[in-house]
Amino acid sequence: MSIKAYAAMAAKETLQRFEYDPGPLGPHEIEVAVEYCGICHSDVHVIDNDWMNGVYPLVPGHEVVGKVTRIGEHVSYVKVGQRVGIGWQCNSCGTCEWCGIGEEPLCSQNQATCVGHHGGFAQSVRANERFAFPLPEGMKSENAAPLLCGGITVYSPLRLYSVQPHHRVGVVGIGGLGHMAVQFANAMGCEVTAFSTSAGKADEARRLGAHEFVVNTDPDALKAQTGKLDFILVTAFAPLDWSAYVAMLRPHGKLCFVGAVLQPVSVSAFDLLLGYKSICGSAIGGRTLITEMLDFAARNDVQAMTEVMPMDRCNEALAKVRNNTARYRMVLKN
Ligand SMILES: [Zn+2]
Ligand SMILES: [Zn+2]
Repeated sequence: MSIKAYAAMAAKETLQRFEYDPGPLGPHEIEVAVEYCGICHSDVHVIDNDWMNGVYPLVPGHEVVGKVTRIGEHVSYVKVGQRVGIGWQCNSCGTCEWCGIGEEPLCSQNQATCVGHHGGFAQSVRANERFAFPLPEGMKSENAAPLLCGGITVYSPLRLYSVQPHHRVGVVGIGGLGHMAVQFANAMGCEVTAFSTSAGKADEARRLGAHEFVVNTDPDALKAQTGKLDFILVTAFAPLDWSAYVAMLRPHGKLCFVGAVLQPVSVSAFDLLLGYKSICGSAIGGRTLITEMLDFAARNDVQAMTEVMPMDRCNEALAKVRNNTARYRMVLKN
């Protein structure tokens, strides 16, 4: 049975209607009828082949929420009819040292949902059962979809790098990722400082849980933050004066990248060594953390602010992600 989808037939192309035969269902595979699929900046990167890993025709989409319609013969984690979410990763080997400690994104055989595999801009999508996450009851599907990639992308580093409730956390960039990071850090009990180039986002950032708001084009405002923060999460994609951010860190502080800034990050080693500071990165999160994040989000009412469009307007919705006019995550609905 073929699956109807939207695909880019070549790099940077507008999506077109596309149908494919997914083949027989594997023993640990499930098929999910897509109800909602969020659009992530990574979808734009893979469509455009920015990371040189695109395989065409390419069906984007890796923030899926829907109902399980079919299960392979050995599937035991999920049931037909259950509501689940699927994120960036849809499979891994399951046996290596990284899979063994719940850090599946580090598995050398990690399979992405929409690279070399057809994603969620479709009627249905497939995944290994271990990468389908039952959603807490009461969580609205359209607000939950962006948690599956964007949400875990910002939640995981806060846990991975042991951010504590007494810490002061900076979030750089208040957009698709940043608006969720502010909520998570606030819910963890941290004092949160939001950094944005748009002064107009101050009220919204405060509503989301920021205790302080800094316009990061103002050098004096940046300087006033010197030595104040324990952890800075960079969700922005643009190059900034990273030395100024390292200077904002307290001893042992970390500057952590989750936004794929393409330009080299240059700071002097001297700025790091005196305060035992470090620069680090993080990408998505493993199964244990995704499960924990969904539960934490439900209990603390962390949700993505979304704008929903029908699936057949996927090109229009993608354009809003490309030109940064989404507030804050676009979600497609079937
Ligand atoms: Zn993503
Ligand atoms: Zn593995």
